[in-house]
Amino acid sequence: MSQGSATRYPLVLVPGMLGFIRLVLYPYWYGIIAALRRGGATVIAVQVSPLNSTEVRGEQLLARIDEILRETGAGKVNLIGHSQGSLTARYAAARRPDLVASVTSVAGPNHGSELADYLALHYPADSARGRILEALLRFVGWLMALLETGYHGPKLPVDIHASHHSLTTAGVALFNQRYPQGLPETWGGQGPEEVGGVRYYSWSGTLQPGKTDRGGNRFDGTNRSCRLFAATFVRERGQCDGMVGRYSSHLGTVIGDDYPMDHFDIVNQSLGLVGEGADPVRLFVEHAARLKVAGL
Ligand code: CA
Repeated sequence: MSQGSATRYPLVLVPGMLGFIRLVLYPYWYGIIAALRRGGATVIAVQVSPLNSTEVRGEQLLARIDEILRETGAGKVNLIGHSQGSLTARYAAARRPDLVASVTSVAGPNHGSELADYLALHYPADSARGRILEALLRFVGWLMALLETGYHGPKLPVDIHASHHSLTTAGVALFNQRYPQGLPETWGGQGPEEVGGVRYYSWSGTLQPGKTDRGGNRFDGTNRSCRLFAATFVRERGQCDGMVGRYSSHLGTVIGDDYPMDHFDIVNQSLGLVGEGADPVRLFVEHAARLKVAGL
């Protein structure tokens, strides 16, 4: 067995909004955990409230990190977050930098999501449309909790308004004022490599007609959703993965921000159906090697 992914500290994978560890038999990090383990890494996928604020999710993650450190005997963890999981990881690292070796943001809305802004504008909480959206999210959250087989902890609280606010440009701007670690100083720039002993990294993709809508994605409805959602983007029009903009995703060392992948492809969903030229699993394996070389 290759030991290329055998990082010093465990890799802790943090899912995004409506995230999960495993729905019945279907894992969130499809094919990724197995590939990292084949490379010798200790990998732990965690669950936090699928619909809640970044701060609430971050506190849950901190509690889980404590357990992981006890279970593995490790001194720190490497956090890899997808989407809102990136913000969640940033929160945990900002609060307890002594427990976190690195934070890696995978398609993280580190400066907010223009899709969330669109929904705040066109589906306000006090409107009929807003209430229908909220009821739909509540139902999906309830159904997913029912199907979740990878999580065995206590029931996780739901707060749909807080969840939504945590993803808008205004909501993330407030979050960033309190927890600026790893953010670039200029729009589209790179952030610092290290803050307070924690290394920061990010990567993300964009929708690229002729690539991301081909291959396996022709059979993946989530790609169609991303193309629909991309129409809500203004500032990063034509430069987003359907849910997060290219520059909005920047944090720490930017490994890449224009991989041909939509917001779901980047974690190899659904069922490994991705567009042409995309290899999301390889990015995780390469990153584990990067962390290993950095002594993390
Ligand atoms: Ca896909």
